[in-house]
Amino acid sequence: MTNSRPSRLLIVDDNEMNRDMLARRLLRKGYVVKLAENAKELLERVKEDPVDLVLLDIEMPEVSGLDALQKLRNHYSAAELPIIMVTAKAQSDDIVKALDLGANDYLTKPIDFPVAVARIGTQLSHKHAQEALKESEERYALAARGSNDGLWDWNLSANVVHFSPRWKAMLGHQEGGIGNKPEEWFDRIHDADRERVKEEIAAHQKGLTPHFESEHRVLHKDGSFRWMLSRGVAVHDSTGNASRMAGSQTDITEGKVSDPLTGLPNRLLFIDRVGRLIKHGKRRKDQLFAVLFMDLDGFKMINDSMGHLIGDQLLLGVANRLEKCLRSTDTVARLGEAEAFTVARLGGDEFTVLLDDIKDPDDAKRAADRMMKALASPFILGGKEVFTSVSIGIALSNPAYTQPDEILRDADTAMYRAKSLGKARFEVFDADMRASVMARLQLETDLRRALERGEFRNFYQPIVALVSGEIAGFEALLRWQHPTRGLLGPSEFIPVAEETGLIRELGWWNLREACRQISEWRAGAHRHLTISVNLSAKQFLQPKLVEDIGKLLSDLALPPEALKLEITESTVMVDPTAAVEMLQHIKSLGIQLAIDDFGTGYSSLSYLHRFPLDTLKIDRSFISSMGDDGEGMEIARTILPMANNLRLDVVAEGVETIQQVAMLKKLHCKYGQGFYFSRPLSAEGTAALLAGDLTWQACEPTR
Ligand code: C2E
Ligand code: MG
Ligand code: MG
Repeated sequence: MTNSRPSRLLIVDDNEMNRDMLARRLLRKGYVVKLAENAKELLERVKEDPVDLVLLDIEMPEVSGLDALQKLRNHYSAAELPIIMVTAKAQSDDIVKALDLGANDYLTKPIDFPVAVARIGTQLSHKHAQEALKESEERYALAARGSNDGLWDWNLSANVVHFSPRWKAMLGHQEGGIGNKPEEWFDRIHDADRERVKEEIAAHQKGLTPHFESEHRVLHKDGSFRWMLSRGVAVHDSTGNASRMAGSQTDITEGKVSDPLTGLPNRLLFIDRVGRLIKHGKRRKDQLFAVLFMDLDGFKMINDSMGHLIGDQLLLGVANRLEKCLRSTDTVARLGEAEAFTVARLGGDEFTVLLDDIKDPDDAKRAADRMMKALASPFILGGKEVFTSVSIGIALSNPAYTQPDEILRDADTAMYRAKSLGKARFEVFDADMRASVMARLQLETDLRRALERGEFRNFYQPIVALVSGEIAGFEALLRWQHPTRGLLGPSEFIPVAEETGLIRELGWWNLREACRQISEWRAGAHRHLTISVNLSAKQFLQPKLVEDIGKLLSDLALPPEALKLEITESTVMVDPTAAVEMLQHIKSLGIQLAIDDFGTGYSSLSYLHRFPLDTLKIDRSFISSMGDDGEGMEIARTILPMANNLRLDVVAEGVETIQQVAMLKKLHCKYGQGFYFSRPLSAEGTAALLAGDLTWQACEPTR
């Protein structure tokens, strides 16, 4: 930095005594001092050796100080070379002339030394500041000069800003259109950004940041906001206060608001447009607009199976078709406006459409319908036909919306509803949807708390050997003892627990508790009892699962064959190869494996032999439709012999009647589970059942 070396002063005076006296004192202040006797010598000195400041006597023979000043100023600006005039008398005429000619300041003889030192100091610190600024301007704004950037230069003490013509033009203004007050800038900054920008400036002025750099929106004359990157540096005076700040402004709107792949507006711009409509709508009650949120169905699969390049091409194709079809919709044609809609890409396979000015909700539905049709025909990508469909959620404007995110969120909620109702369709958001989303959120929170507070219970339902009527074991079924809603079954909370991943903790609790409980019962007179525990897909995928279970069993000294894990077909079919490996791993510990709800999923016995299974549980729906040679009977008739061939035990689920028991026995089904025997019971209820040691009449050999 310029500050680190001593400043060089040049004293020009024809009077030797004056010269020397001043020189000696300044030397003592740490300056490097050079001397010149007359104006001619002065000009040579300055040329041969750079000088930081000149003290120039006005009255000199031959060439006067004023003439010398004028000559110097032809080569050096006041910023580059500060000149302090020295005059014998307080001759205001001369002083005014000198200042006019570009002198920075003046001193009167006899020189009051402390005043002189102060004025020299001020001028030097200005000069250093200028140099620092120049240095930083070179660093930060050099690129700007040649390019399209605007420049600003803010004199903080005078509080005026010089905005370059380019800076003004970037905001749509002529040279005279913007004044030189800082407010001209700040008032144009977007409400949402203004405070932040001010803080960023303040932070830099306090020296907290090496330079000021900020991205924010600035109002253009045409009413739109442009994204600007503003960069600058502050210059500090000798007391450490920021005296000046200058920098550049770059228009980054393009990169900021458009999606690089499709060139469509991105989320930022979309939100911005929705925000403006919301503001507008507050004034114009009759104006309706709609946000359509759409998500490609199965895009991930296309991306994964065909590669990202094809995936990108598909997104591009979708973008094009959407724009084309909207341009030709009735809505837009009727209004005859070029910008009655905005298609944006939020990211991934999510697109949004803003319909600016619609007459009624049906317009939005028609648009959604058109969009779905436009995407129905196949895309030809990489020589292949690729089919895709979309799920669309529609949210209509309504005075309750104050933030763009709110309407976007509701459109998103409606989109999820469309997905869950089978995809390739649209749904219009309504208040009920919000209520169910809120309820779900509440449930999520409650679930976490319930785990912490130990509100879960295991219920146990006996699995009965059909021939002997004896209890072979139990299935552990989760219940939630809800503080206000009472005892809740798994359908009330398992789906949410699965989605949020909470099922891992919950499932582990259930497994641990079930194993602990069965150990206790087995320690009594029931050494043969097994415990069946449901395992969700998320648990099944946990790499440490087997290790954890192994440890649990050995801690409890529970023989592994006493534990039976129930998994559904869908769990293993996600990735059958990985599943085989996992199942074999579990099996290697000696734990038993059952397929739950058999018949409701892929129901293919043919793949089952690949899995190391012990048990098949036939889903309740087949058992309930078994009477009168119904469909269930057919299925049971086919499944049971095959299962027996595969040496799989079969458990019939949902056995409710004595007739069902009889039929199952005829078909050589080994086990039954259902209300006919017992509903799931609390731990105490189960203990009582075991103590009674009861068997079921109908199970005893009949006829
Ligand atoms: P599941 O594993 O198929 O359990 C059998 C379900 O059928 C139980 O419902 C049981 O109460 C019910 N059930 C048994 N016999 C009869 C009958 O005769 N008639 C009728 N109508 N129903 C009968 P529950 O307890 O409501 O459990 C439902 C499902 O929740 C279970 O189906 C299981 O998939 C899941 N689940 C329960 N506990 C857990 C758990 O700890 N972890 C996991 N991942 N899932 C669990
Ligand atoms: Mg089960
Ligand atoms: Mg089941």
